[in-house]
Amino acid sequence: MARKIVVANQKGGVGKTTSSVNLAASLAVMEKKVLVIDCDPQANASSGLGVDGDNAPLSLYSVFFEPDKASEAVMETSSPFVWLIPASQDLVGAEIELIDKIGREYFLQDVLRSIEDEYDFIILDCPPSLGLLTLNALCAARELLIPLQCEYYALEGIAKLLNTYEQVRARLNPRLTILGVLLTMYDVRNKLSRQVKKEVRKCFPDKMFETIIPRNVRLSEAPSYGMTILSYDIKSKGAEAYLSLAKEVVTRKAPAIAA
Ligand code: ADP
Ligand code: MG
Repeated sequence: MARKIVVANQKGGVGKTTSSVNLAASLAVMEKKVLVIDCDPQANASSGLGVDGDNAPLSLYSVFFEPDKASEAVMETSSPFVWLIPASQDLVGAEIELIDKIGREYFLQDVLRSIEDEYDFIILDCPPSLGLLTLNALCAARELLIPLQCEYYALEGIAKLLNTYEQVRARLNPRLTILGVLLTMYDVRNKLSRQVKKEVRKCFPDKMFETIIPRNVRLSEAPSYGMTILSYDIKSKGAEAYLSLAKEVVTRKAPAIAA
């Protein structure tokens, strides 16, 4: 059974998508079979993996309400051993269609059910909100990875995210655990970055990943070529960091299967 990791933070631009695709590619280098689910209608994870979601034959939206078809929506990507269910703009509609559905938080869980056995890891990249798409991803996954950008307001909004996490655990998905908090866009020369690291460590003494993702221009260039950092520049600091993160993720024990 796949380890299912949801990458969430309702703030935009904190490194969710960058971390989703590059962690996926780095796990694949470790010979893991990885499936990325792009849960964001902006489809950045899809394009970052070389797939145009709006022109794909099927997308997450096509199978959202027809989970039996899920395997048909899985595509190959520019990255070996990484597969993808792409997002398209019409995924915005799913959020609205879900509103009056019974069990509206569990549709994505059903989508994963029929395909999860084929992969070692499933990574769910969330949109920048705590709406129904993110809630579906939090209910479909077992482990939560929270990227935090090293900037002045890094911890702002984190209380709301943790509150949502607690509510999801209490009411919807008691098996969800926090895999780790990942600092992104770290700049060693910047005093603020170092302060944020200290603060976050105080907040999450045993949940912070040892690996810290540096600010690295190669990481921001790779998606415009539809490539992960490993295909684009394997020697970069960014590639080194995501490979090290993948090692940590593999070593951090998967939560026990029993509820
Ligand atoms: P989110 O998915 O949380 O909105 P992204 O992963 O799309 O965030 O990142 C936001 C922007 O910052 C993108 O342009 C991305 O290329 C860039 N970026 C992300 N991580 C880094 C990094 N470590 N160094 C430099 N640029 C980064
Ligand atoms: Mg994103």
